[in-house]
Amino acid sequence: MTACQVCGGEDRRLFIRHGGYDLYECGGCRLVYCDPMPTAAEIERLYTDAYAGASQGYFAKVDAKLHRMRLRLRWILAASGLDPATTASGLDPATAARRFLDVGASGGFMVETARRAGLQATGLELDPVSVAYARSHYPGSDFVHGRIETLAATAPPAFDLVHCSEVIEHVTDVNAFVAGIVRVMKPGGFLYLTTPDLGHWRRPRDLTRWDAFAPPGHCLYFRTANLTRLLERHGLAIVKRRRSWKPGLRLLARRR
Ligand SMILES: [Zn+2]
Repeated sequence: MTACQVCGGEDRRLFIRHGGYDLYECGGCRLVYCDPMPTAAEIERLYTDAYAGASQGYFAKVDAKLHRMRLRLRWILAASGLDPATTASGLDPATAARRFLDVGASGGFMVETARRAGLQATGLELDPVSVAYARSHYPGSDFVHGRIETLAATAPPAFDLVHCSEVIEHVTDVNAFVAGIVRVMKPGGFLYLTTPDLGHWRRPRDLTRWDAFAPPGHCLYFRTANLTRLLERHGLAIVKRRRSWKPGLRLLARRR
């Protein structure tokens, strides 16, 4: 039996058994998690060419994706005060360029959006097919194949803004993951994070009818309170939360 990764609690109840996977709800913080967690081999199978055949499907509608990302980035830059148009004025563009990292960059759409907005953008992605797609379509940015834990071991704390959308629910060691993100952030830097919201009022009561319910790929299910607790433990303070019509958490946090 595994202790809760957010609060360390061992008091829990079986939440749901689905597709051969057991999910528990922590009695302390209400985190819902797979136990056992998917193995490294299972994860590899899930993420290697996760978007296969998707060049026509998932990676289609690129314009719509870029448009959505542009609106999101505009919100993030305004909420964080990192807008390059206002903060970089009068400075050498080379040194003024804010550094942006997308953790779980997929086909590079958010990275490209950030680059077009004047940020120096890097994408980190586990799926080699997505990395290849991103590199060939968006050569103006850096794409790194790998995990945040690996990048954090060598990269300096250089990023002003980290974007991590619909990734944290996939992570088997969430403390190592968040610690890795924090390590590459500048002190005072920002993190924009999204993940499905188990506590959202519009989440289907029947979990199996919720499109975000997908064990073992999604092995962690957060609510506002336990996600806040996790981030705070790693030195991140929530600056703003965005309300969402869809059952999702969207928040901006700042490294202390
Ligand atoms: Zn807990």
